[in-house]
Amino acid sequence: MHILLLKSSRGREKKIMMGTEFSLIEGREKPVSRSDYDIFVIGGGPAGSTAAYLLAGFGHRVALLEKQKYPRHKVCGGCLSQKSVKFLDRVFSLPVPDLRQEDLIDFVGTTYALYIEGTRALAGDLAEPFYFTRRERYDAYLARRAGEAGADIYEDVEVVAVDRAGRTITTSEGDRCSAPIIIGADGIHSRVRRSLPGHIVDRKRWQENLGLALEVAIPREEVQALAEEGGSIRLDGDLAAPHLFLTACRWGYGWVFPNRDAIVVGLGGLIRKNGKGFRDRFGEFLKTLGLSAFTDRRPMASPLSFGNYIPTPACGGTLLVGDAGGFASPILGEGIFYAHRTAELAAHAVHRHITTGAPLAETYTRLLQHRLIPELRAEVTLRDLIHGCLDARMRIPIEVLMNRTGARVIDAVQGSRSFLGFRKDDSLHTAVW
Ligand SMILES: Cc1cc2nc3c(=O)[nH]c(=O)nc-3n(C[C@H](O)[C@H](O)[C@H](O)COP(=O)(O)OP(=O)(O)OC[C@H]3O[C@@H](n4cnc5c(N)ncnc54)[C@H](O)[C@@H]3O)c2cc1C
Repeated sequence: MHILLLKSSRGREKKIMMGTEFSLIEGREKPVSRSDYDIFVIGGGPAGSTAAYLLAGFGHRVALLEKQKYPRHKVCGGCLSQKSVKFLDRVFSLPVPDLRQEDLIDFVGTTYALYIEGTRALAGDLAEPFYFTRRERYDAYLARRAGEAGADIYEDVEVVAVDRAGRTITTSEGDRCSAPIIIGADGIHSRVRRSLPGHIVDRKRWQENLGLALEVAIPREEVQALAEEGGSIRLDGDLAAPHLFLTACRWGYGWVFPNRDAIVVGLGGLIRKNGKGFRDRFGEFLKTLGLSAFTDRRPMASPLSFGNYIPTPACGGTLLVGDAGGFASPILGEGIFYAHRTAELAAHAVHRHITTGAPLAETYTRLLQHRLIPELRAEVTLRDLIHGCLDARMRIPIEVLMNRTGARVIDAVQGSRSFLGFRKDDSLHTAVW
């Protein structure tokens, strides 16, 4: 049996036996029926932990069910833009020095390079850095914080069925438990999403905007020893800058992200635009970078949200957050911030619903419409413009656009400008109340 011993920020000691119906709270063994909860959060990535952390902090009874055990691997480049960094500071009281102290920052990227068809189109210093984290540490830490805030964390418990109308879930242990509210934070393959009706999840739109990503982490010493001169692109010698390659695949991009001990090479693009042969394309990408020695490494593959967000991801007592609802940057597939932010909006909607009777699905949908969807919509427009031009081999307008707006595009990615006209805007960072 797996036992998690947590010391809460309030000094309370709490022992949770994962996968059982019991928890030991303040030294008293007390059976807890899983049906005693106000909210089930399904999935313990950044979205689930944020929702559980906030809702427990508001005083609600929350159970988070995660099918794996922490620390668990998640295929991800681990890039934290300033949007995420500001969120962690504002919501989890985790400023950068604390992120460092908790060993949640693996690398800091202070420069960048952007390539279009083998040409370095933009490069330079970043006004504010991109940080890189290791998801196994990041996600385990945030789940621990949710537990410390008062949520019950059940690891190694998979939800195998969701009865949305009956507000009941069935776990891998065969338990059937009910709660008035179910938050689907169960990632891109979400079972909770599949329980929602067709008028909520437009499956055609979802598929059309779904990406596929392949990624491999190569230890730095191997890169240094085995990289050869034959590639058409030379990576910076110190491998310290995040590199993006806009035409490495269609309607997507390739990336090389620096970590402390490795570089992460990835390729992600819309499935419908790339068709079959994505794996071969990844091999080609490695060769372009002079990394053909690594083409026999098996990359990790995962679907990637690329503009397939669901505008009204709620029905009755069920809400979707993070990847489960397709929330990620439509240009870059960056999803950690959107997981955090949608979970924050969902937590506030749930709190309003429980305390004031405000209609749950409508409140969440309205918060999304006011605080996130316009940005995502603007980003889809820019995505379509960029890749439409690249498809038509109109490289020059894109280079002009990049040169004229480069710094502002980076600000928009970092979250200090809006993708709507690149005006200064910090609405992604504002508190919900
Ligand atoms: C190759 C790749 C690279 C990426 N790089 C970046 C990047 O550099 N920066 C960035 O910001 N984003 C990146 N992303 C996107 C980012 O990884 C996701 O957007 C983010 O992890 C979404 O968080 P989440 O909490 O919604 O889902 P997840 O992190 O996927 O968490 C979902 C959790 O739910 C659990 N779960 C699933 N089903 C069940 C079930 N039935 N019962 C119980 N538990 C369940 C899973 O085990 C998992 O722990 C990348 C994605 C890919 C594929």
